[in-house]
Amino acid sequence: MLHSSYIEISKSALENNINFLKKEIGPDVQLSSVIKGNAYGHGIEQFAPLAQASGIDHFSVFSADEAKRLLDSLPHPASVMIMGYIDNDELEWAIQQDVEFFVFDLDRLLEAAKTAQKLGKKAKVHLELETGMNRTGFEKGALEQAEVTLLQYQEHVLLQGVCTHYAGAESLQNHERVISQHQKFNKVLEQLRENGLDPVQRHTACSAAMISYPETRMDMVRIGIMQYGFWPSPETYSQYIGNQQDKTDPLRRLINWKSRIMSLKAVTQGDFIGYGTSFQAPRDMLLAVVPVGYAWGYSRSLSNQGQVLIKGQRAAVVGIVNMNVMMVDVTSIPDVQKNDEVVLLGKQGNQSISVASFGELSTQLNYELLTRLPTNIPRYVVD
Ligand SMILES: *Cc1c(COP(=O)(O)O)cnc(C)c1O
Repeated sequence: MLHSSYIEISKSALENNINFLKKEIGPDVQLSSVIKGNAYGHGIEQFAPLAQASGIDHFSVFSADEAKRLLDSLPHPASVMIMGYIDNDELEWAIQQDVEFFVFDLDRLLEAAKTAQKLGKKAKVHLELETGMNRTGFEKGALEQAEVTLLQYQEHVLLQGVCTHYAGAESLQNHERVISQHQKFNKVLEQLRENGLDPVQRHTACSAAMISYPETRMDMVRIGIMQYGFWPSPETYSQYIGNQQDKTDPLRRLINWKSRIMSLKAVTQGDFIGYGTSFQAPRDMLLAVVPVGYAWGYSRSLSNQGQVLIKGQRAAVVGIVNMNVMMVDVTSIPDVQKNDEVVLLGKQGNQSISVASFGELSTQLNYELLTRLPTNIPRYVVD
């Protein structure tokens, strides 16, 4: 094994999740697979072709570079939508490739219209509305100008979508705000229609909104975290499962992060382990050295806290997580050998280390932890 750890991505788990999501939204709502953040750490190049094979034909990315990586890795054509960053210089490329993109300011809209005119090819834009998130999106005044521009350039700009994003649909605390955003969206949409602007698709929902506010689904949902087998928050999960007869989690996680034991070390009672004095052996111990550390996204805050799986049993991290290695206690696991498999995240035997519990220990969100898995850990697809 060339690399000190690797990530496995499960094809059958993804199929399961996509089937669940499709059943949930029904045949009239399109499912856009959100693959920003390197497909939430799963790897765009590994994940996107699998998603396509499981029936996904629409992808959402954050930026133009991700759109390029996506197009390079997909064996078949698909719709691609950039929700965030694209430089004016890249608009020509996007329009040529039929890549769709959000517009949330006049500059980009005008630039897109002019570029499309020059190319003799329509730009497919999604008009993002400011409804209360206060991040990106057209506000009232600029929106009126945008409407004028859209009408003026109708031959060169297709209003593929009108959209917005909710400010925290995964937490009940934000209930009022989400409801008010949804109402505002519908009101502005109505005005747009009265002014002769009718989008092909209306879309507002992320995973949490799709589950907790079904009225936000409209023509398309933009689903990230749930396709990877994670719930946006414990609240969203309880809300869903509370209404079900069957209380088993319908989602399956795709990711397994594995390494191997690099070396074994016996220490005597009273010895300090690793850097400094954060761990002193309370008895004679056998330690396994695992070649993964914070340089690989295994958080230093898991020092003396984290757990890994070896031979189907839990082994605790002892001492400080170093840049490239950490030590785990294998004293009570029989017959441990050098090169034995170590599971950092995911399943081994009947045990599993979920990102949720890993995240709770390191006070990171599922989202953050997954996307911080370095791109240079190799990813492999398994069944
Ligand atoms: C990330 C993102 C989503 C997907 O969110 P999940 O919670 O992962 O489903 C949807 N829409 C926008 C605009 C996003 O940035």
